Amino acid sequence: MPSEFELIARYFDRPARSALLGVGDDAALVRPGPGMELAVSTDMLLEGRHFAPGAEPRALGHKALAVNLSDMAAMGATPRWALLAIALPAADETWLAGFSQGLFALADRFAVDLIGGDTTRGPLTIAITILGEVPDGLALFRAGARPGDDVWVSGALGGAALALAARSGRTRLSAAQAESAGRRLDAPEPRVELGERLRGIATSAIDISDGFAGDLRHVLERSAVGAMVHYARLPKAPEFAGLADDRLERDCVLSGGDDYELLFTAAQSSRGEIEALGADLGIALARVGAIQTGDKLVLLDAGGAPMDCGGGYDHFAS
Ligand code: ADP
Ligand code: MG
Repeated sequence: MPSEFELIARYFDRPARSALLGVGDDAALVRPGPGMELAVSTDMLLEGRHFAPGAEPRALGHKALAVNLSDMAAMGATPRWALLAIALPAADETWLAGFSQGLFALADRFAVDLIGGDTTRGPLTIAITILGEVPDGLALFRAGARPGDDVWVSGALGGAALALAARSGRTRLSAAQAESAGRRLDAPEPRVELGERLRGIATSAIDISDGFAGDLRHVLERSAVGAMVHYARLPKAPEFAGLADDRLERDCVLSGGDDYELLFTAAQSSRGEIEALGADLGIALARVGAIQTGDKLVLLDAGGAPMDCGGGYDHFAS
């Protein structure tokens, strides 16, 4: 049975390319670039709560980092360094090899260094802390939305929740649809480059981790504004086509978590720039509504009638 230190050396100790000191000492050392602020965030994944028991380790390694990169994207920050605190029920080397491959494959794509962490025995729990950089004064906040701003969403919504609904037997998907929706749930693509390019353009931003309606409400509360959104304009995952289950689609699109798209607001005068940005990045960017004075989220159906928005995901409500 390998020791804790052998496991760390084998699966998590990689040379740090951009940290002054990485894995191996009592702390890592990093130096942000001149004129940069540090953005720091942490996210925890628990077996049985955030992922199903027996989840594929490679996908889990990807997702554990992806959700953290998504938080950097929402701040307009460039992710640089990560710390991994992991509790493992056993020293399962096949599992560790898959998990670390999934994690490092994504880390390498974004030039993120794993610079430290902690490894212990216990129920499978993965907590990653991410550090990123953003030029002084250019971070994106939830609090900046202003009446008259447009509300924008990247990519497509509801696919991850649809995959979950199919896996729990609430709906049936074709093999091809299950596969592509499943990728949205297991292998979300963090919108890092979009977040960076929205610096100086977006007035507020958040990543959609708990569902569109709930996450938009966070922006509205922080910004002390309201919004009007057109349901028909919300970008829906293509896997809903042909399902003919409006109720399920609405639940997944409005309240389904785990999509990791960006929701942002911007002045109307930025429309052209944002459309050009989406085309440049090859990411669909949909203008779905407008910020208003007040504190209400009004959601309109295709006929212009108000709809119920549902709530976002709340870990303590279920
Ligand atoms: P200490 O007891 O001083 O906290 P540890 O024995 O926990 O040190 O860790 C030794 C080194 O390995 C430290 O640099 C720590 O950051 C790193 N480390 C431990 N676990 C992990 C992990 N899962 N991923 C990356 N680095 C890790
Ligand atoms: Mg330690």
